[in-house]
Amino acid sequence: MSNLRLPSIDSLLRHPACQPLVERYGRDALLASLRQLLNDLREPVLSGQLAAVEIAPEVLAGRAGERLIAQHRSQVRRVFNLTGTVLHTNLGRALLPEEAIEAVQMAARYPINLEFDLNSGKRGDRDDLIEGLIRELTGAEAVTVVNNNAAAVLLTLNSLGARKEGIISRGELIEIGGAFRIPDIMARAGVKLVEVGTTNRTHAKDYEAAIGLRSGLIMRVHASNYAISGFTTSVPTAELAELAHKHALPLLEDLGSGSLLDLTRWGLPAEPTVRQALLDGADIVTFSGDKLLGGPQAGLIVGRKELIAKIKKNPLKRALRVDKLTLAALEAVLGLYRDPDRLAERLPSLRLLTRTQADILAQAERLQPSLAQRLGEGWNVSAVPALGMIGSGSQPVARLPSGALCLRPLVSKRLRGRLLLGLETAFRALPIPVLGRIDDDALWLDLRQLDDEAAWLAQLDQLHGGQG
Ligand SMILES: *Cc1c(COP(=O)(O)O)cnc(C)c1O
Repeated sequence: MSNLRLPSIDSLLRHPACQPLVERYGRDALLASLRQLLNDLREPVLSGQLAAVEIAPEVLAGRAGERLIAQHRSQVRRVFNLTGTVLHTNLGRALLPEEAIEAVQMAARYPINLEFDLNSGKRGDRDDLIEGLIRELTGAEAVTVVNNNAAAVLLTLNSLGARKEGIISRGELIEIGGAFRIPDIMARAGVKLVEVGTTNRTHAKDYEAAIGLRSGLIMRVHASNYAISGFTTSVPTAELAELAHKHALPLLEDLGSGSLLDLTRWGLPAEPTVRQALLDGADIVTFSGDKLLGGPQAGLIVGRKELIAKIKKNPLKRALRVDKLTLAALEAVLGLYRDPDRLAERLPSLRLLTRTQADILAQAERLQPSLAQRLGEGWNVSAVPALGMIGSGSQPVARLPSGALCLRPLVSKRLRGRLLLGLETAFRALPIPVLGRIDDDALWLDLRQLDDEAAWLAQLDQLHGGQG
């Protein structure tokens, strides 16, 4: 016979042990949680699986509390990105500098002059908030900002090339993760794709032969996430611009990452700069806000004034525009570029990208004993050199010399895979999940981005599993 000894919902709700929960989560949420809990407890008794259940109200309150905590935990979680990829698209790309965080808070908390000209007292344009800075930093005549660079490419193509032909090299018909493929975007933008040249080699004469009455634009795409090497040729922007202008066509250049400054000054691989692309004659340049620029997710469209005006008139612009928080963050980030000497200190993405291997290795050596002790006999924990990546398709071939904690299970090869997955899962289950990468029978934690060492160490004793 089943034997149910559970308090009534009413008495539970009135019980002192439940009062803090009422205050924290509200009566309705607690009621729902208790109902569910009691149902779950009754089930095995009613079905005869359990003989008896008798639980004190305090215990029930505790369990309801645990359920409420789990339900109310934010789905947006901070993580430690120890994958070795700095601008990780799946982990939110660039981290904002304090200046941008303050600007976002201000714009979130108060009304702002988003589309209001404080000088004239008349309606303004949200792009004007950053136009001055963009002109100063890139030499562009005008700018418009949209949701991301994919939107920037779509909007530009549609505004300048709809119902016309867009000429592009076969070597640049790329896919950039998440189903963003240049041929598809062209089609959606209403531009008829005209491919020229071959995968590895495209010459000026290939473009020239494709230009005709129906041509609307020439497009160049920075092949950001792959590299063609060997027997290759492409037409430099300057030469392509000359050709485009001879035929009165705009040259549109999608730079992808599009750096505002020459990164080699910080020892990073060379990336084409927006200023250089414009100087070379590109009429419109598009690039991301949250890749090498180090700002919020956004797509920047910069270039010739009359073309930008045309782009801004497109009704799609309204559908793709950015919000006030993005603009506030973007302005603050761009402002830091006015002082290149201090940029690497102030812009988190650049600071992380320029951390030296010696510095990262020293950190790995400092942390090695704590982790080795935590994991115990079954694991070899070593501080070793490692190779990271910039990420977000920037410099796919370039590797960033870095340092990592390499965690290797000391068991037979047959058991290694399971142990590694177990440890990886345990790291992911921590209050601030730690994300590394499994490679060569080991779990690698690349420490380039481990800023908050104290928080990382503090949760190590909560690491469960993975041992032996
Ligand atoms: C990353 C990238 C895009 C897409 O940019 P998002 O900001 O991710 O939308 C487009 N073109 C190129 C060349 C890129 O590298």
